[in-house]
Amino acid sequence: MSFFGRIREGLARTTQQFVSRLEQIAGRVDGAQPVDVETVEALEDALIAADVGVAATGRIVGGVRHASGGGARLRELVKAEILRILQDAERPAASGARPRVVLVVGVNGTGKTTTVGKLANLSKGAGDRPLICAADTFRAAAVEQLEIWAGRAGVDFIRAKPGADPAAVVFDAIAAGKARGRDPVIVDTAGRLHTRVNLMGELDKIRRVAAREIAGAPHEVLLVLDATVGQNGLSQAREFLQAVGVSGIVLTKLDGTARGGIAVAIAHELKLPIRYVGVGEGIDDLVPFSAQEYVDALFEEQW
Ligand code: GDP
Repeated sequence: MSFFGRIREGLARTTQQFVSRLEQIAGRVDGAQPVDVETVEALEDALIAADVGVAATGRIVGGVRHASGGGARLRELVKAEILRILQDAERPAASGARPRVVLVVGVNGTGKTTTVGKLANLSKGAGDRPLICAADTFRAAAVEQLEIWAGRAGVDFIRAKPGADPAAVVFDAIAAGKARGRDPVIVDTAGRLHTRVNLMGELDKIRRVAAREIAGAPHEVLLVLDATVGQNGLSQAREFLQAVGVSGIVLTKLDGTARGGIAVAIAHELKLPIRYVGVGEGIDDLVPFSAQEYVDALFEEQW
């Protein structure tokens, strides 16, 4: 199936709910009159229910408040504004020397380990020769899990010695990447929140080691957010943003929620691009994000 088909499938629950609400709204719009207060409020409710968030919802409805032209026109305006919000947050990944280093950060349970496996698979499918580095030295089970993913994807795997310094493992992985011609080096990091200060310190050290070894590294810091967590994900994101910097988001479990509008809230509030979305538990269930495909999928059904 095409990437677009996968996004559409992943967004199905969100689309279903959002579109049915929009149909109701459109049904009572009088094309000859400017959009009325009830319509604006119903639209706000529909956007909030999809987890677009208060701020982005305000921007979107602001654009339709004085519009006229009926349901189809309203739909067009809403769609265009959502697209603009997503596109405003887009930016290319940093360039620099090779191998590229991709740090994957996030809170445990968000789907970080799975995402690293899927990313390696996607990267290999695109013709790269990735290497996975397990820098979460606290969760032995996560390391085992990641090794299984590396096996499935058929890519090299570097693991820490028990109790080793995570930054030292990253150093080893970069050295192995250079020696073996592996690129990118995809690093799974720890994600336990109860020792937040230590965690952020550890991530910062990993970042510094990577920067010392390769110009421009880390080229990407991908924050994994669980779409089903909703707006709480935004506060998680702000913490990571402050402490280690984040260059893009991987939004997982989009398939499990009707609140896929969270992508819009992320783009609007954090000004961060969504790089990938997770649409299932399998190795192929990671899709490069495209703002256009996302809005096309979200609005797919006609009013
Ligand atoms: P970690 O603790 O952040 O490393 O999370 P894991 O990678 O172990 O994933 C936690 C759970 O979420 C597992 O059961 C995964 O199969 C599941 N998961 C991860 N990504 C997705 C996704 O995109 N969709 C769905 N439905 N489940 C996912």
